[in-house]
Order: sequence, then structure tokens, then C-alpha cells
Amino acid sequence: MKHRTMMQYFEWYLPDNGLLWNRAAAQAKALREAGIDMVWLPPAYKGAGGGSSVGYDVYDMYDLGEFEQKGSVRTKYGTREEYLAAVQALQAQGIAVLCDVVLNHRMGADGTEEVSVIEERADDRNQDIGGSQTILAWTKLEFPGRAGKYSSFLWNASHFSGTDWDERGKRNGIFRFAGKNWNRETDDENGNYDYLMGADLDTDCPQVVRETLDWGKWYYDTVRMDGLRLDAVKHIGFDFYRKWIGEMRSYATGGAGGQDDFFIVGEYWSRELGKLTHYLDAADHALALFDVPLHFHFYQAATSDGNFDMRTLYEGTLTGTDPEHAVPFVDNHDTQPGQALQSFIPAWFKPIAYALILLRDAGTPCVFYGDYYGIPHDGIAAVPGLGTLLRVRSSYACGAEHLYFDDPSVVGFTREGDDAHADSGVVVLLSDSVGGKKRMYAGRAHAGVCMVDAMGKRTERVPIDAEGFGEFAVDGGSVSVWVTERAGAELFVSLRS
Ligand code: CA
Repeated sequence: MKHRTMMQYFEWYLPDNGLLWNRAAAQAKALREAGIDMVWLPPAYKGAGGGSSVGYDVYDMYDLGEFEQKGSVRTKYGTREEYLAAVQALQAQGIAVLCDVVLNHRMGADGTEEVSVIEERADDRNQDIGGSQTILAWTKLEFPGRAGKYSSFLWNASHFSGTDWDERGKRNGIFRFAGKNWNRETDDENGNYDYLMGADLDTDCPQVVRETLDWGKWYYDTVRMDGLRLDAVKHIGFDFYRKWIGEMRSYATGGAGGQDDFFIVGEYWSRELGKLTHYLDAADHALALFDVPLHFHFYQAATSDGNFDMRTLYEGTLTGTDPEHAVPFVDNHDTQPGQALQSFIPAWFKPIAYALILLRDAGTPCVFYGDYYGIPHDGIAAVPGLGTLLRVRSSYACGAEHLYFDDPSVVGFTREGDDAHADSGVVVLLSDSVGGKKRMYAGRAHAGVCMVDAMGKRTERVPIDAEGFGEFAVDGGSVSVWVTERAGAELFVSLRS
């Protein structure tokens, strides 16, 4: 597995000014220099919300900001030309681009149809409420603004398995279309979590399978992305993506490519490790998953007044059990304040969490735009020290790893460094509670040198003895990241300039 560093290049409350693609292009070089070599861009196609849609209310997946639809030609992020230019600018810097794929649902239909449905209980979608009834459903998507360019496929009720709005009765409900079944191989929350929102794609319908593949290939031919981020995989039949990924990766890599050649990460939002590993099994391990359990451990540790047992931080996490298929992250566009899955890691813990995901030898970490640049909408500042942690990751955090998760509060790990990276090696010590000290193995190669705290919290020099050990300290509720004095000089010099 290559060691890559991802950034989620958006947050929920970016201004609706159509400038994100231009910004990504302009920042490509700076991102590369900061140590980012993979960028996840938000959904690029027209949503029901038009020029202000974040992108998850999918309307027309062939409209990348090209057609006058939903009140706008451009998307929230810019035009098709600007999107393609941004992808090329990032790739020109050696940055892999992941595109966001939202296949679960469609919204903003152009017309309604009479559909025979069975209403299901919201909290148990296997329980019918009464018999069949007829509703007026928003299921006709015909894209008059695009007029058949790129694809002549038109959507109607036969391509969907359910919806949540009856236009005639003007009421909400979970309506399963008569003759359709929820896909059994989905998350079992609410009895069956196939249905999430909007018009739910029927992935058992052969025309839907073909259309989603046709679109995927068109999207690849148009954008030439390096990988994908798959939205809401727990709401889509598990066998669907196994096959879809196989075909898409084969198409993108010319046959025999693997995860390194066309990186795919899925969003399975559950804090239960068993559900994530079950999904990975069902998908033949063809993709990685965001490590949602680790995010919640960070959240617990950050909100427990120092009473979280840091020895258990990686228990029940994907990073702890299957790092090859883990994308550890700290926060994202759904967990930020005001959003559906709000569980934003408090500021004091953020540098600790980022040191854990960026400096350990486990997983493909993802840095959140809102943490890197801040979230002006909510007056949230950029995470202090994040730039330093990224530099330490790209230049010094390598070589054999030694773990010290041996205390309820003060835990850490070391990387010995290697010959390929000058002055490499790092010692990380952190605490969710009071400060402390720990004797840790930095590596025999460092015998006789001194180490300094790149985070600038501790000001002493720590000598490494003949056996490669040193006695390191950390302040309470803090993280110190010890590097060799020469590495520290490089970091401080480059950070000052
Ligand atoms: Ca679904």
C-alpha cells in the first residue's frame, strides 16, 4: 500500500460563489508542498438546489455545470470547464483526484407519476401500514435543459423502489413501490436502511445497473479521475457496488488494476466495526472505508473530561484491525456544526487526533478542509499545528513503529525513521488528561542525538541514549511531536519562511 495523504477539499458552508474549482486549481501547488497527494472533491453534478447545492441532492449526473437547469448553469463550485481544469491542475502536481459518487437517490424530479405503493413504518421499513394505495410521486427525471446530450436515459418510477413524498396528499411517509422490495443486503437500522431519501434507485433493476455503469464510464472518460469516494454505501445493496467497482476499476485501469491504481473509499456511517468489516467482506475488499468508529473514539476522548481510557483508542476501529482498508479522519462535512451527523471534535483535541491519524503507520488519512482552512461560517479557526503535522508526516514519520498505548491518559508511539529520509524518525506523546512522561524507544540510529518538540509545546531537548531510548514529556490535554534537532531546525526554518 502506498502511503498517501488525502484532503477532503470542501466543507458544508462554503459560499455559493462558484469559485471552489478555481480555488482548487490555484492551490494545487501549495497543497502538494504541504504534503497532500490525494484530494477528494465534492459531487460535481447538478443537484436539486442548483447553484447552491452542496451536491448530495443529486438531480442530473451528466450536468457538471454546463446546462441551464435548476436555475443555474454552474454548480455551487463552478462550471464544467473550471472543474476539468481543476482536476488537471491537481494531477499536474502529482495529486490524485477522487470524485464523489452519489448513486443512492435522485431529487428535484421534473414531473410526477401515479404510483401504487405500500407505506412502511419509518422505524421499521419491513412493517407495512395498511394495504396498497396510489400516490403522486416525483419520479420523472427528463432533464429538458440538457436535451439528451451525453445520454438519452430518462428516469421514471420503474427505476426506483420508493420515495418519501405524496404530492397529491401533500404528506411525508416511507412509500415502497408496489412490486418492488427493499434490497435485503443493506444496513439493518430501521429494519432495513435501503431507503434514505428522495427517489431511491432500484439497484435490482437491470436498466439501473446498466445506466449507472454507462454514466460511470462517461464520467471517467470526461474527467479521468484517479479514484472515487462512494456516498451512502450502507443504503445500497452490497452486491451492487462489488460489481460496479469491479467494472469501473477495470475500465479505468485497462484491466488488472487494484486499490493502489484506482483508489476507492466508501462512506459507511456506523460506529459498529462489525458492520464495516461485513461490508468489506461483501465487497471483496475492493475499497477502503472511512473509519467512523475511530472518529467516535476521538469524540468520546475529547468530551469525557480526561476520563476516556486512551489504551482502548484503537479497539473496535478499522485502523486498529484492518489498516489497509481504513481511511482515518477527524471530521467531515457531515460532522461539522449544524450538520446531520454533528459530532465535531472540540478544538483542544484536534491536534491530538491529527497526530494520531497522520503520523502512525496505519491507513490512508483524510484531512478535512474545515480543519485545514477553518470554517468562517461558524467562526472556527484552522487547527493550529496541522501544517507542521503534515510536514512531519511527509518527511520524518517513517520506519518501524512502536506503540505505547499503555496508560489510561498518557499514550504515544514512535517511528524509527529510515535511510531514505534524512533525519527521519518521530516520537509522539499525547494526553487526554494531565501531563506525564514516558521512556520510549526512538531507535538505535538516533543514539547520541537530541530531539525537540515540533509542536513547540515543550521547550527542553531530549537526549537519546546508547540503546536508542529517551525520556519524553507531554503537557496535559496536549500532544508533543519529537523530531531530531536537525529535523526541527528544518521545520522551523521552512515554517518561518
Ligand atoms: Ca437505497
